[in-house]
Amino acid sequence: MKKKKRWYDYLWIGELLYLCLGLFNILFAWLGMLFFTIPLLTAIIGGNKTYCNRYCGRGQLLGMLGERLKLSRNTPPPRFLRSPLFRYGFLAFFMIMFCLMLYSTYKVFTGAPLQETVTLLWVFRLPWQWPEIGMVSPWFAQYAFGFFGVMLTSTVLGFITMVLFRPRSWCVYCPMGTMTQGICRLRHRKEETELGRTGKKNRGASEASGQ
Ligand code: SF4
Repeated sequence: MKKKKRWYDYLWIGELLYLCLGLFNILFAWLGMLFFTIPLLTAIIGGNKTYCNRYCGRGQLLGMLGERLKLSRNTPPPRFLRSPLFRYGFLAFFMIMFCLMLYSTYKVFTGAPLQETVTLLWVFRLPWQWPEIGMVSPWFAQYAFGFFGVMLTSTVLGFITMVLFRPRSWCVYCPMGTMTQGICRLRHRKEETELGRTGKKNRGASEASGQ
């Protein structure tokens, strides 16, 4: 039987719209902060990966392009991609690049000239001078340029791995996925430790009362 579609099955449209809006005006890149904060909050507050499993528009888009449009070779991703060393190494690299992007924003905040470029794959600087950004502070626009570069880079990597391997192979080493998984693990470990402590306390109390 065909599964009934829910509203969140269409979140891939939001992902596509986000990429198009960035072309129209770079300031829309700020909306991408939602894709950062929502998964983290879901993991921290809920202790689960509901965002990845249900609400991630990027994951849906990759799945759809790979499965429905058959753009994927659909072969298993190489083992190294799954290894904790690669996944945490990639997360660390991504975070370093993110911090460098924040530093560029800070430099513009303190008077350096605005760089109207979007950096793709950390190397290629694409001129991005057509959008209107005169209405905001230069640092605000600089962050948008940097952040859109981060989003575009991860999208391109996602597409490449979707074509080469299974549709959602990007999820294997996606920094957000790695971070949320790490948070959930830490949370569950803490809960298990607390449960263990309560269990010991209860056992001790029953032994003392002779039950
Ligand atoms: S791992 Fe990344 S791309 Fe995949 S579903 Fe989670 S947040 Fe989305």
